[in-house]
Amino acid sequence: MVQKTKKMTNIVLFGPPGAGKGTQAEVLKVKYQLVHISTGDVFRYNIKNQTQLGALAKSYMDKGHLVPDGVTIKMLNAEVDKNPDANGFVFDGFPRTAAQAEALALLMEEKSSQINAMVALEVDDQVLVGRLLERGKTSGRADDADEAIIRERVAEYYRKTDILKDFYKAQDKYFGVNGVGNIQEITARLSEVFDRL
Ligand code: ADP
Repeated sequence: MVQKTKKMTNIVLFGPPGAGKGTQAEVLKVKYQLVHISTGDVFRYNIKNQTQLGALAKSYMDKGHLVPDGVTIKMLNAEVDKNPDANGFVFDGFPRTAAQAEALALLMEEKSSQINAMVALEVDDQVLVGRLLERGKTSGRADDADEAIIRERVAEYYRKTDILKDFYKAQDKYFGVNGVGNIQEITARLSEVFDRL
């Protein structure tokens, strides 16, 4: 049997809730032929289909809290394994904790690969809350409808997630990008980073 040793490009698209990760990931996956994995989307798919995982995730998501690491990591590993022929991945919403970042590094190592970069969308908190409230008018997402839940998500981000910048900075893999502007402008800024990887 021929051993697969194809080189992948794997990017963590990072930023607080409402930074625009999902929107940009949809554009970038096409442009760079990468598989986009959004943990939020996978959880919402499970909620919609009333799976056990969905019921568990919902109990945390509705409060603006993170879903426990064990559950999230297992799910992410399964999503990666569904795409054995990928050129690489854009991870959107993962990792969100130090334990998740460690697990992702391990998973990539198992695939004889690595995370090439964390590309972070930088947006002020006030702008974030405004964007999420606006999105809540049409998204149907319970966690976007209530300002208190939105603020809790942003607080969770600063409690558990923001420190991951240091994890990737220590490996010289952190790239910050201004996340304020129109969609095309921001895609262009992100592409400048992607093109250098
Ligand atoms: P946003 O980034 O706009 O808050 P997401 O769709 O990425 O939205 O995530 C929605 C919710 O799903 C989060 O608030 C959290 O409860 C849960 N979630 C998503 N990704 C993770 C993760 N990596 N770890 C734990 N919980 C997660």
